[in-house]
Amino acid sequence: MTQEELFKNLIAHTKEYGFIFPSSELYDGLGAVYDYGQMGSELKANIKKYWWDSMVKLNENIVGIDSCIFMHPKIWKASGHVDAFNDPLIDNKDSKKRYRADVLLEDYIAKIEAKIEKEVAKGQKRFGEAFDEAQFRATNPNVLREKAKADEVRARMSKALNDNDLVALRQLIIDCEIVDPISGTRNWTDVRQFNLMFSTQLGNTSDETGTLYLRPETAQGIFVNFLNVQKSGRMKIPFGIAQIGKAFRNEIVARQFIFRMREFEQMEMQFFVRPGEELKWFEHWKEKRLKWHLAIGLGRENYRYHDHEKLAHYANAATDIEFNFPFGFKELEGIHSRTDFDLRRHQEFSGKKIQYFDPEQNASYTPYDIETSIGVDRTVLAVLSGAYCQEKLDNGEERVVMKFHPALAPVKVAVLPLVKKDELTAVAQKIMDELKLDFNCQYEEKDTIGRRYRRQDAIGTPFCVTVDFDSLTDGKVTLRERDTMSQERVSIEQLPSIVEKKVSMKRLLEQI
Ligand code: ATP
Repeated sequence: MTQEELFKNLIAHTKEYGFIFPSSELYDGLGAVYDYGQMGSELKANIKKYWWDSMVKLNENIVGIDSCIFMHPKIWKASGHVDAFNDPLIDNKDSKKRYRADVLLEDYIAKIEAKIEKEVAKGQKRFGEAFDEAQFRATNPNVLREKAKADEVRARMSKALNDNDLVALRQLIIDCEIVDPISGTRNWTDVRQFNLMFSTQLGNTSDETGTLYLRPETAQGIFVNFLNVQKSGRMKIPFGIAQIGKAFRNEIVARQFIFRMREFEQMEMQFFVRPGEELKWFEHWKEKRLKWHLAIGLGRENYRYHDHEKLAHYANAATDIEFNFPFGFKELEGIHSRTDFDLRRHQEFSGKKIQYFDPEQNASYTPYDIETSIGVDRTVLAVLSGAYCQEKLDNGEERVVMKFHPALAPVKVAVLPLVKKDELTAVAQKIMDELKLDFNCQYEEKDTIGRRYRRQDAIGTPFCVTVDFDSLTDGKVTLRERDTMSQERVSIEQLPSIVEKKVSMKRLLEQI
């Protein structure tokens, strides 16, 4: 099965089992907006709890806030979003479709790179054991020609983007002979800058002064509350402020399912430090954040750092944690050393002093900031795609199983009477009533036990508890484990503690 087919199957699976639905589906959907169903919202809530606890519970010097989506419009001037939160867009005059110019070029480069990999695979096949990949890449004329082409396009694209030279960007698209995937033509408009912020009006004012923006990131809500939190919480540097909340971006290229949405959620933490100590803390958070991801258990090989060579003017270090999504390695989280840029800008634009008095240094300064910024929805997608398994069983049947970390699984236990008989259902209901005080559980009595197991596998329930006739006399039930499908008899009394041991959020937090 190709990665593309796998991705299609995953999307269908998430809809069929109540994880994710296209928003407004009844009205044919709304581009790049998705709703979370009964399973998806549990999974998402568990991911958010894991992040929140890892920040706010595990670190005495990190506190959480919940600021509003609407903020004073000047905030977005100060942050640079009004003037510079743009994507370069280009339209095809025949298909009337709109694209991000840089994405068209990146896709073009990706195609060249795929050609190179094909060439390397061919070499591998031809030379077998004796194949020296490094030497092949360094000497094969086809590889070298394609690599030079990709490097040149990348260099021209970076220069055009950095210089904000939209004419050069368009020329590059023309020179690469990029065609519109729909119309197949090269009939392109000029490239224009497009601001990604959604705007709306405050109250009954209809002029410029009443323009409000839906926040495109949660970070600014933290910066503008820096003094409030520091003073009311008597926080001492270094300290952090964490927040989870919605953000909105009018993305031009909206595809790849919940990877790029127009309404999404972020989990951001700003960590304020002494000037001069920021790079030490940047390294600290870079390492910590990767550990957080690895604890989820999707495999080290599926994560990598992507250090930024070109930095935004206010940053002095930046890296992305990329995940191997079904469509390749892409950004999941950004870690940025943002210097004192944001606090300084808000000081400038608000006219209010934003400084910290450091008792140890007996001096005041504007703190430096390390940001960790991760998308909730991208994490949901990473977890869904990492957990999705199609397995062939010994009896020839197939099962789809979501191998979620038990602490993240939407449902922890399914309670199943073997058959629908009063004496069994009474015991099963009693077990259910006990377990549901601690865990999200499902009770099911319809269908054969095998079919019920399959349904629980499909939503990733770590444990199934089956009540049979022996249970009535020995006080024991069969506990089936999702991944191994192993079954053991355990006493009903022990159930809560057995389940708790596996599904507790502690299992994740202790690994960070
Ligand atoms: P990209 O380059 O993929 O557009 P970005 O660099 O603009 O992402 P940031 O501004 O650094 O992203 O936002 C921080 C995090 O928020 C990202 O790492 C990602 O997980 C998430 N995120 C950003 N934009 C979206 C979106 N449109 N849909 C879902 N998640 C998003």
